Amino acid sequence: MENELLSLVPEYIPLGLGVYDRDGYLKYANNTTLKMFGVTMKDIYNINIFDDPNITAEDKELLKQGLNVSFETDYDFDLCEKFYETAIKGIRKYFVTKVTIMQDSEGNRQGYILTCEDVTLKKMQEQKIIESYKKIKSTQKELSLALNAGKLTSWNYYVSEGMFYKFDVQVENIEKRSLQFIYESIHPDDRSKFVALLEAVTHKQKLPENKITLRVLEINSENYCYYSFVYSAVEDEEGRVVIITFIQRDITEDIIYQQNLIMAKNKAEEADKLKSTFLANMSHEIRTPLNAIVGFSELLTETDDTEEKLEYKQLIETNSEILLKLIGDILDLSKIEVGSIDINRQKLNLCQLCDELYRSFQQRIKNPKVTLKFINPYTKCVAYFDKYRFIQVFTNFVTNAIKYTPQGEITMGYECTPERVRIYVRDSGIGIPDEKKHRIFNRFEKLDTFAQGTGLGLSICKAIADTTGGEVGFESKVNAGSEFWYIGYSEVEYIEKSEMSDTEKSPKDIEHSLVTSSIKIKDLSILIAEDNNSNFLLIKKLLKDNQLTRAITGVEAIEKIKAQTFDIVFMDIRMPVMNGLEATASIREFNQITPIIALTANAFESDRENALAAGCNHFMTKPVKKHELMELLSKYCR
Ligand code: ADP
Repeated sequence: MENELLSLVPEYIPLGLGVYDRDGYLKYANNTTLKMFGVTMKDIYNINIFDDPNITAEDKELLKQGLNVSFETDYDFDLCEKFYETAIKGIRKYFVTKVTIMQDSEGNRQGYILTCEDVTLKKMQEQKIIESYKKIKSTQKELSLALNAGKLTSWNYYVSEGMFYKFDVQVENIEKRSLQFIYESIHPDDRSKFVALLEAVTHKQKLPENKITLRVLEINSENYCYYSFVYSAVEDEEGRVVIITFIQRDITEDIIYQQNLIMAKNKAEEADKLKSTFLANMSHEIRTPLNAIVGFSELLTETDDTEEKLEYKQLIETNSEILLKLIGDILDLSKIEVGSIDINRQKLNLCQLCDELYRSFQQRIKNPKVTLKFINPYTKCVAYFDKYRFIQVFTNFVTNAIKYTPQGEITMGYECTPERVRIYVRDSGIGIPDEKKHRIFNRFEKLDTFAQGTGLGLSICKAIADTTGGEVGFESKVNAGSEFWYIGYSEVEYIEKSEMSDTEKSPKDIEHSLVTSSIKIKDLSILIAEDNNSNFLLIKKLLKDNQLTRAITGVEAIEKIKAQTFDIVFMDIRMPVMNGLEATASIREFNQITPIIALTANAFESDRENALAAGCNHFMTKPVKKHELMELLSKYCR
């Protein structure tokens, strides 16, 4: 009974069993083997183990040498076609095989036992796991790439632990942060928002948005970065929130970009507003003096009263000057807009120039409650600046000082070191409130609507300083006055007045200027090249004590000069047939002596340069003023 039972064992164990004789011929295979290989005993009886194509040559060699072998095979039934007949086709199985050599008590080989376990199912499960693992790995890598590219970081907050864990492909070195640490690195103003969010999500309260923006301290820095967070909660089986996943995105660059855009937009709007105000101002500023000019010109023709005439004439002159200044400023502004202010440095005698300016400024003060002082600490001062721009800055400062000083004193002056000149205009006027000081040099900026002006003067001064490498600035106190200054850099030669001498302007100098302007100029022979009748008439009236000859074209002017000697020539630039520049250039080929004064309504600096380059001695812009004409005649014809 027992023997019978034992004999059933080989048939029922879940292991393939094959017995080979000492020469390797199969003599027995159990039922499990027959099922595993899809054969009958007849099919495989007497096949030789050494012919089995699924056993490697090395293992066969080991067997021959008397060594047991074990191996795992990816069993190929197609390979066995010539070895034995099998019903199994086109599939693969995995077997773990062991071949044990059977020996008798004397060690003589008697045969082989082959055990074979079918591990196909296990193997396939293993492969599935490997595949899944590979997939997870590659998904993690992709996710990590996507997170990096999108500047995203993922954090899991474990509610019960109070810890944040950062998502990382490298599972081994996961970064973690305590709730306290995270809380402290958030900007103090954003902390309550963060705490409220954690509370709400943990207690499953609905939030208006699943996104918040927080400012978070940069690592090892005192700067805050902007991060936007989206979050979602993970619940356990009982519905409690156990993990909150945050995806964090660095939006600092976006925020800065946004802020810059808003700033640019505000600036553009501000500029637009300023331009509109400027245009409204401009219209007002042009119409006001124009109205006076037109009105008083009409009145002038209607009155016979000499005193009234004189008064109207003065009013017309003042308003014309205002208009001229306005036009000058607009021209300069157009140059500033295209960034092309011309700077022509030339040797300047500052003592003389400032003195002349002082005198002309004095004429402008109509308010008897205001006095103008000039402080000149030098007997000689030579520097290299653009004369026109130097005058322009000084004039703007003084004009403003006159405008904004209802009573008191205005002092103008300059100070030198060997490498720079500082000019200044100090007044005891209304001053500038602190909150408005930063706007003073802005274009179109006009702090008071009551005063005349377009808000361009100081911005032009600033542009001049910027272009010449100089500086402008001011100090001011409300109701105490202001001091505006300009520093220009140049080589400067100067001799200071002796300490004892009076630094202010001496009465002798004033006397001198009066003598100069009162010189009577008459009987000069003057050629006027001018095509416009009214303009010619005006000059004719102004120079009535002299002998005038008129030319209407450039060609005519040349002919007249060839035919006759003139003391001086006034040359209009825009004329028919041949313009004044061409005419002057031709005249200079045969006559270098006769002074030629360019007279034109073209007021750009380049026009002045062109006229001088053509050979003119001087450049004068229209409208012509009598005292300027006289000064020129006295300079060139005395
Ligand atoms: P505006 O041609 O309108 O005077 P500016 O650019 O020269 O323009 O000056 C800008 C503004 O600065 C003025 O509108 C005025 O409010 C202020 N300002 C300039 N100079 C003085 C000064 N000396 N005292 C008080 N305010 C001044």
